Amino acid sequence: MTRQIVSPEQLDMQSPGRRDYWVALGHTSIWGSHLIPLTVIVGPQAKAGEGLVAFGGNHGNEYEGPVAIKHLLREIRTEDVLGRIVLVPVLNVAAFRVGTRESTGDDGFNLNRLFVEGAGTTPAMAGITHRIVAFIRQAIWPHVDISIDLHSGGEVARFTHWAVWYCQDDPAADARGEQMARWFGTQVVMGSRVGSPGGTSAGLFQDAVNRGKLAIATELGHGSAVDVRGVRFARQGVLAAAIHNSHLRGTIEPIGHHADGTQCLVRGAASVTAPYPGHYEPLVDCGEQVGKGQTVGLLHDFYRLDEEPFAVTADAAGIVVAQAWGARVEQGQQIMMIGEIIG
Ligand SMILES: [Zn+2]
Repeated sequence: MTRQIVSPEQLDMQSPGRRDYWVALGHTSIWGSHLIPLTVIVGPQAKAGEGLVAFGGNHGNEYEGPVAIKHLLREIRTEDVLGRIVLVPVLNVAAFRVGTRESTGDDGFNLNRLFVEGAGTTPAMAGITHRIVAFIRQAIWPHVDISIDLHSGGEVARFTHWAVWYCQDDPAADARGEQMARWFGTQVVMGSRVGSPGGTSAGLFQDAVNRGKLAIATELGHGSAVDVRGVRFARQGVLAAAIHNSHLRGTIEPIGHHADGTQCLVRGAASVTAPYPGHYEPLVDCGEQVGKGQTVGLLHDFYRLDEEPFAVTADAAGIVVAQAWGARVEQGQQIMMIGEIIG
């Protein structure tokens, strides 16, 4: 298979068939380009403006999404594609190249904070990370109505596997989003109204929502590793969304917590912020249920060795959905997130 190197303007997202691209965005330093992998498969029933896109590698040290999508590149047969499927295994190639959350080797930005007005189209925001935003807006958003953004915790947090959809005040759209999230098979499923949990309103998830897409995001592992169940959930969620929205022919069976009825529908994740820098000791695992007022972790200050540690307590009963990953935490860092179980 030859992967063609093209500019964003040269992408053919419309013609029937499969095309494998490296999308070239000019390099800010060397004589050359950053090459973003993108595969588009268009079937006979594709409609203008409708399609599913799955992104891995929004952050450069989160690997379940890239691995799952890399497998799907070979698994999905062109003859089975009915609508439009766009696969981007590694979105922020600048961050992925150096294995960090931000584009550390280039402009240093966190892609998932840059979906702001003018990104990549004004001289002040012309670095590679801003231009990835412009590329998505110009070349991908016009052709899809479903966006799946596959994240993991990187070095920041450890997570209960979760899938989140963007809640709107439209029961039909919410039911569709919830079902799409449930099909990943993760333990936690969550509806969000304010951007991605732990993220900001300037993330990819929110940008998709702002443009009327059905947006799904996930957290599927942590520690810059490859989580066995996380990869499975990523693959399943993308395939299920493709099949159930008539982009892909086939049938699919539920897996994981979706299959065995142990999935938790969660709302209003409450966070605990570190009041000072220190070393975090979790007292419970992610995915455990905790009671209101329960001490769920301790923040140690090794410069005040003889003082009691700060007790991280649960504001409400619920399920632990995220905790700090590394022992060392910064002042102001969210070290614990508990979700209220509503179904
Ligand atoms: Zn991420």
